[in-house]
Amino acid sequence: MNWQAVAGRFTPPARLAVIGDPIGHSRSPQMHNPALQACGIDAQYIRVQVPVGRVAEAFRRFAACGFLGVNITIPHKFEALDAVDVLDPLARQLGAVNTLAIREGQLHGYNSDGPGFLRSVREAFGADVKDLRLLILGAGGGAGRAVAVQSALSGCQKLMLVNRSQAKAEAVAAEIHALDSSPAASVVPWDEVALREALASTDLIVNATSIGMQPDDASLLPPDALVARHLIFDMVYRAGGETPLLAAARQAGARTVDGLSLLLHQGAISFEHWFDRPAPLNVMRQCLQNAAKE
Ligand code: NAP
Repeated sequence: MNWQAVAGRFTPPARLAVIGDPIGHSRSPQMHNPALQACGIDAQYIRVQVPVGRVAEAFRRFAACGFLGVNITIPHKFEALDAVDVLDPLARQLGAVNTLAIREGQLHGYNSDGPGFLRSVREAFGADVKDLRLLILGAGGGAGRAVAVQSALSGCQKLMLVNRSQAKAEAVAAEIHALDSSPAASVVPWDEVALREALASTDLIVNATSIGMQPDDASLLPPDALVARHLIFDMVYRAGGETPLLAAARQAGARTVDGLSLLLHQGAISFEHWFDRPAPLNVMRQCLQNAAKE
């Protein structure tokens, strides 16, 4: 691909991108392009499909073409860790890079998923993660691990980690134990009795698995184990309908938030890294909501 030609093909010029494989589904351009316009920034945000194993090469090409920044999504967030010149300490701790800022040719790697999760919880529930007891389903996956470590760093009251492949949750718990002054993280087996018991002492339930994206996905938890005091954060976003977990939560009278909120807040934090100014959050929120109806 002639990258200079690709970058020059756009008006305004392409200066920001999201990479993944596949990437066609990403809603990030619908949120970032109106934000750039609202701030009078003469730049366009595009999607670029990058195959596994080619992330470092892609970053160098973006830098050579005058790009300012890149978002990184599935499956490249881990590969990106080793493809930057300067790794932010939080991204190192969270084990993934989802934001690249290119400054004077240098590649700076950040993670905005963890801090975006904290903002999202605060906005949706008016609560701080540090005051909550969390149960994280899918804690062994990339997003679940980042949320678990971020919550531990924030000093949450209790951290219960659940993962289909339990060994992965145990590895995350061991990492958290090694952090300074972190709360104890326990691993809860993925079985009904253990989950029911854990839910009795949970405030915030996070779904960081990919279950819920398909209309026929089963509910992750026994619906009658959810109660009105639970706060439910489903990182999955499903166009055209509620996930089964959110539907069960609504039935129980529990408060909920879906993956669109995290998409918004992690995007706003990426914008702040690129432009060193607050993101136009309301413009981004409105455009994401409009895009979600398409
Ligand atoms: P990932 O690294 O591939 O992890 C997938 C997780 O889902 C693992 O914990 C995996 O368990 C679990 N899982 C998959 N199929 C399962 C099944 N049938 N039963 C039980 N567990 C199952 O993916 P990721 O990057 O962490 O993303 C996870 C989800 O979060 C995705 O839906 C993604 O779209 C969403 N997400 C949303 C945002 C946002 O901005 N809203 C940001 C990041 C991620 P095993 O370890 O046992 O395989």
